[in-house]
Amino acid sequence: MQVPHNSYITSCPVGCDSDLLPTDIFLPEGPLKMCSACGQLVSQCSEAAYLSSMREFDDPEGTWPIGSASRRLKQQTGRIIKKLEMLLSTSRNNIHLLDVGCSNGSFVSAACSYGVEAEGVEPSPGPAQHAVNAGLKVHQGFIEDVNFEKSSFDALTLFEVIEHLKDPLSLMKECLRILKPGGYMVLRTGNTDSFTVRFMKGRWLYFHLEIHGGHVSFYKTSTMKLLAEKAGFEVHSIRTHSVGLYEKGDIPYLPYRFFKIFSETLNAPSKLLGKGHEMIVFLRKPL
Ligand SMILES: [Zn+2]
Repeated sequence: MQVPHNSYITSCPVGCDSDLLPTDIFLPEGPLKMCSACGQLVSQCSEAAYLSSMREFDDPEGTWPIGSASRRLKQQTGRIIKKLEMLLSTSRNNIHLLDVGCSNGSFVSAACSYGVEAEGVEPSPGPAQHAVNAGLKVHQGFIEDVNFEKSSFDALTLFEVIEHLKDPLSLMKECLRILKPGGYMVLRTGNTDSFTVRFMKGRWLYFHLEIHGGHVSFYKTSTMKLLAEKAGFEVHSIRTHSVGLYEKGDIPYLPYRFFKIFSETLNAPSKLLGKGHEMIVFLRKPL
């Protein structure tokens, strides 16, 4: 196994000034490293491998869900909007929302269908143009380059973005700047302190660059809290859910059924104990 010496990430993305030490989570580009201060996990992939794996996001079709995935997106969006209405003590028609890293705008579109004034920002030109063609208000570029006005949004969403960033702090600070005081940011990423990672280690596909392009920085609830507070947010809630072991077709059918039932019995305790592999975070900008 060849370990590149020019790793894309050379310091803890959370901002600790501490050593990155190898772990027993083995990947093709070398074992994941862990920040000795906070426990954040990072990939050892090279910058070239990172950039090449990010190219999949230039696909104009992006991540537009179809069929059951589309119904799931609609339900998830409905739940998030309901919660934002409660937290912001207002109705959905009064919520001005920005989806950061919106790809082709599938979430923006779903949020608009609920009556939210939603827009998006997306660096990849193909998906951003696809969103604009679909009639959505989507800005092409990095959020820092768009120059949104200070305190202009009631809510921001940042779904499956932060695990791609070696310096998430500058993005988080920009998000804080453009959010109104008392506004909320909703963030979703993976959780390394989960039953899935304990059991699967390097077999968890979420860690794999060639499958999940650009995944290089992996959080657990404590490192997420640390990052949010460094950026100036208050943590409202961090919850986790889901246990996923083998996928259908990875292993023979009978063991697959066994592990599927096993992982389903772990779903409820994983939620309760914060050991699910999906993390959903609500952060608030202080008044
Ligand atoms: Zn750290």
